[in-house]
Amino acid sequence: MADNIEELREELKEAKEEIARLKKDVENNRNAVIHFYRVEAAGKVVLKKDETERKLGKRAHTCRVCGAKGDFESYLSREMMQNKRDEFEYFVCPECGCLQIAEVPDNLGDYYGEGYYSFALPANPDKKYKSPATNHDKILDVGCGSGVWLSRLADEGYDNLFGCDPFLSQEVRHGDRVYIKNCSIHDMEGEGTFNLIHFGDSFEHVTDPLETMQSAARLLKDDGIIEMTIPTFPNVAFELFGPHWYQLDAPRHIFLHSRASMEYLADKCGLKVEKFVYDSNAAQMFRSFFYQHGVPFNDITWELALRFFTQEQLDEFAKNSEECNKNGFGDHMSVYLTKKEQPKINEKPVK
Ligand SMILES: [Zn+2]
Repeated sequence: MADNIEELREELKEAKEEIARLKKDVENNRNAVIHFYRVEAAGKVVLKKDETERKLGKRAHTCRVCGAKGDFESYLSREMMQNKRDEFEYFVCPECGCLQIAEVPDNLGDYYGEGYYSFALPANPDKKYKSPATNHDKILDVGCGSGVWLSRLADEGYDNLFGCDPFLSQEVRHGDRVYIKNCSIHDMEGEGTFNLIHFGDSFEHVTDPLETMQSAARLLKDDGIIEMTIPTFPNVAFELFGPHWYQLDAPRHIFLHSRASMEYLADKCGLKVEKFVYDSNAAQMFRSFFYQHGVPFNDITWELALRFFTQEQLDEFAKNSEECNKNGFGDHMSVYLTKKEQPKINEKPVK
């Protein structure tokens, strides 16, 4: 509340300006929805918590990872990155623990508009990538977009770099080190030749995770390594915010894998999980909070975060996240896969 009449006047003036802006937006039929949460603003950003019942109870589903059938906990999540707010049902398989979309929408491509982040231009990378590969190793980036990650590796001295992405309209080359094909991993050549196969937040997007992992296993060298970064379930952000968890990212994220569902798939492909490394951060808290309050992805800025949380609270989120990572309860991780041990030819038979 304003302390005096002068301040109140100032606030009202701001409110009027805000409403005028909003009206203009509506008239232009642009951004009207984006800024809806400011309607109640009266000069300030006031957030309105989404009160929709998003727990749907138990519903009949079949897990598309492990094949389990039954009545599984189901949820309603909404599209927030493009701010379309279309709603999608997800469910949790109690057998393998994978959270997954109930039905892949026919128009999935519509949710990858121009400017979708994996096709965006590189942001200035401030961190060097710590690769398990050496500079001359043959590296494949699956779902590489325009090749941001590969170009970075080229700059760091790697020189045998390949990518594939079925959403590219044509092949891409960056100098003489990066060669990107506009195809899915299933159409990649080079059986058993790749030292490192990387999926940078792309595995959760594929509709056929088993076949995709099989293709990766086919391309992998016997002593090669598959490195996947993925959002993962269960996690603390889902506990706190349910299907407003921002890395659920309906409907683009088809499968939010658990450790068990990754191990299940690996086993089917002749692979094994070497390790899970959790790396969630404070965003899982504050981004999910804003999704729960109707703020779309692109409107969530650091400035906005600081209007609702103190720096101390944000630091606390970061600390909590580190704690969750240690306990295997963060919302994002790297998974390292290798081929299962090869049978030793000279081993004596067990009697
Ligand atoms: Zn399952």
